[in-house]
Parts: sequence; structure tokens; C-alpha cells
Amino acid sequence: MPVETELYELLGVSVTATEAEIRKAYRNKAMKHHPVKNPDDPNASQKFQEMAAAYEILSDPQSREAYDMYGMEGMARGGGGGGGGMDMDDIFATFFGGGGGGGGGPGMHFGFDFGSSSGGPRRRKGEDTTIPYSVTLEDLYNGKSVKMNMEKEVVCGVCHGSGAKGNAKPKKCAKCEGKGWTYIHTQVGPRQMATMRAACSECHGEGEKIREKERCKKCKGEKTVKEKTRQEIQIERGMPDRHRIVLAGAGDQQPGVPPGDVIFALRTEPHAAFERSGKDLLARVKITLSEALLGFSRILLTHLDGRGIRVASPPGTVVRPNETIVLRGEGMPTFKHPELKGDLFVVLEIEMPGPEWLARVDREALAGLLPPKKTELEPRPAVVDEAEYEQTELADVRGRSFPAGSDFFSSHPHGYGGYPGQFGDGGDEEDWVDEDEEDEEDEDGMGGAEPECRNQ
Ligand SMILES: [Zn+2]
Ligand SMILES: [Zn+2]
Repeated sequence: MPVETELYELLGVSVTATEAEIRKAYRNKAMKHHPVKNPDDPNASQKFQEMAAAYEILSDPQSREAYDMYGMEGMARGGGGGGGGMDMDDIFATFFGGGGGGGGGPGMHFGFDFGSSSGGPRRRKGEDTTIPYSVTLEDLYNGKSVKMNMEKEVVCGVCHGSGAKGNAKPKKCAKCEGKGWTYIHTQVGPRQMATMRAACSECHGEGEKIREKERCKKCKGEKTVKEKTRQEIQIERGMPDRHRIVLAGAGDQQPGVPPGDVIFALRTEPHAAFERSGKDLLARVKITLSEALLGFSRILLTHLDGRGIRVASPPGTVVRPNETIVLRGEGMPTFKHPELKGDLFVVLEIEMPGPEWLARVDREALAGLLPPKKTELEPRPAVVDEAEYEQTELADVRGRSFPAGSDFFSSHPHGYGGYPGQFGDGGDEEDWVDEDEEDEEDEDGMGGAEPECRNQ
């Protein structure tokens, strides 16, 4: 399933459409929406150009593959480094390449604003800035407001984004003669070269440049300057791991273009005491052997907000090793509904007494109190050999030159302290799938599911 479907929707075809179907759909649409046929529609030209651009991408198997995998982001970033063998220049050339009927030319840019229904000149949105941001489980439990200093590009206040001194006007670019593009030669196969159009490297596709001495002193003709800003983000209670906090329009500015967004992508740091699975928490707590046998009533743990949590075991019960109890309503707050909390699962690990204790104790009296030892195996095997008692760790087995499979000890898939992990081993973030993030798991875009084909 492609990560984005806008281009397909634009042409009114299914994401599984064949090349022939795409060509046919484009022809029909192009005829219907040609600006000459729609003189009363101020958006006709824009629509027509967008369809042409969509066709350019989808009619080429390579660029279509890149689009399916990475969306328009992939088109702008050259395939995101994921295979497919496309690089920036190829995709650039695809965009500006001739053929296909009507695409290309100056003024064409990446990142079409397909949602725009306003008329006027074609506009794109500035690039979004994604910033990974580490949060602790405490932050996500209690909520937090974070202020940070950032630097961003803002439109120059002196020239108001013209890049020129006073009323100086830019001059036609000498390299591309004002077209904004030049021909480039690209290798498309082992022995095949293609001539394509690409944005002019001198004027960055604008077709004009400001002369050196007529450039604005402040921005040196760059049209934007760097400015320090202070951003504040709210870590809300119960936000899922990998949640994206979007500061709309807070990204770098460019003249004549709506600024992109600044996106903080949350990453939860591993916690020493708690693991999180959606709304639920897991903690491992050690109790002593006498607590396991005789019961306990004490503060078992300190919660993420600093509260002590007291638990009493029911009288007359014996706690087995790794017995799990659930503390209802002591899990994570629900995002947007922090008053609703999940549950806290507590695994009770039994701390066995050490040799010092054994040295002090009356072992005969102890034997009389404890349940009896096991007797010899019955029926007794005919041959009995003696073997050495040597302590080891389970993990050692996997370090051998002929390693056992990962399911060697199937109840301990991660060798986590020798105990079965109820929530996985906690160290592997891929085990954590938040409900609203599940779509991202299919990052290769090759899910193969039949996509829904929405009507325009
Ligand atoms: Zn300036
Ligand atoms: Zn140029």
C-alpha cells in the first residue's frame, strides 16, 4: 500500500492501475481540464499542471516506485536512501523531463500544494523540520512543558524577501537564459544516456538573479536570514511513544511560500523500573522468601509521580515465583483523557536468602518447618552416573560456537534475567506499537493490500 495516494486520486485511478490505465486516465483528464477548455475556471491551469506532474511521476516505473514507498517526501529527498537506485538528480530530471505532454518548465517545484483550492500563482509549502525529542516515562505520565531555543530562517526584514537593495530588480539568469532550467545528461541505463531538463543550478530554477552589488546587505541576496526563536512544546499526559507534536508554520520561512512545520517526534527513553505498553505499565518487584510464604503489607514501589503504592497480600496465600498481580487504574494516563488510566502489572520476583542467612540458621529446625525434599526418581534408572554441579547463565548457551536457536528456551525468548517477559524485554522499541502508529509499521509500502480507491 503506497504511503500516499494523492497523485493517484488526482488522475482518478486505483493505486494498482497499470501503465496503460494511467495513460488513458491522464489523457481523459487532461482533455477535460485543459485551461483552454475552461476559460472561466481560474484554477484550471493549476489543476492541469498538477495532473501533468502526477502523470510524469506515475508513468515512470522508477519514480512511481519511489512515490509509492516514500510519497512526495520521497520525491523531494531522492528516495530516502531506501533502494530503488534512484538519486536526487534522476527524480529531479523526472520532474522536469519532457514528454508525457505538458509537464515541466520553469516555475515547477517539488512539494505541490495539492490541497490548495485558491487561485493565483502556484504555491508550495516550505519544508517541514522534524526534530527527534527524548522524553522520560515520567514526562509522559505527569505531562511537561518544554521551552527550547531554536534557529530558523526568516524572510529578511530589510528587503522583505526580494534579496535586492532598494528597488533593484533581478536580472535574467545568464546560464539558463531566464528559463530556470537547463538540459542535463543523465545515465539511465548501463549504456544509455538521456537528455533531460533540470532546474538551473545557477538561479535554482528561478530564471533570474540579482547582481552582486545590488544585493541586500543584510541577507546578501539570500532573501532570508537566520533568527533565534524560542519554542514551547507541551508534552501531554499519556502521549504515546513516537507521537509527533506539530508546530504548524513554525518552520523555515521562504519568501512567497507558506512556512513548513516544526515537528517534534517523541522517543521514550527506557525506564529503570517501568515498561510501558500503551496504557498499561509493567514493573518487577522483589519480595523476600518470608513475604512470599507469610504475606506482606508494605509500599511495594514508588510510582512515576512519586507516590508510594502500598499493597497487602491476601492472608493465607503463598506467592509463587514471578506471580503477576494487576493494580487497576495505576497504569498510564490516556492521551487526551488523563483521568482514565490503564493498569499496572507487577511481577513479584522472590528474593532467595543468601549463604550468610543459611550459615546462621538452625538447618535441622528449618527442615522440620519446610515441606519435605523430593525423593529419588521412581522407577530408578538401571544406570546412574554422577555429574558435576556447576553454576552458569542461560545466555552462555547462546554464545557457543554452534548457537542454539532463539527458541532454545522458548519461555525466555530474550533471556531476560531468566524470567518470561510479559511485555517483551522492554529494550526493543519495535515491540511497542501504539494504536495510532500501526500504519507506520508497513514502511516498505509493500503491504499488498487492496487500497481503497476514493472518488475525486
Ligand atoms: Zn535582505
Ligand atoms: Zn538560471
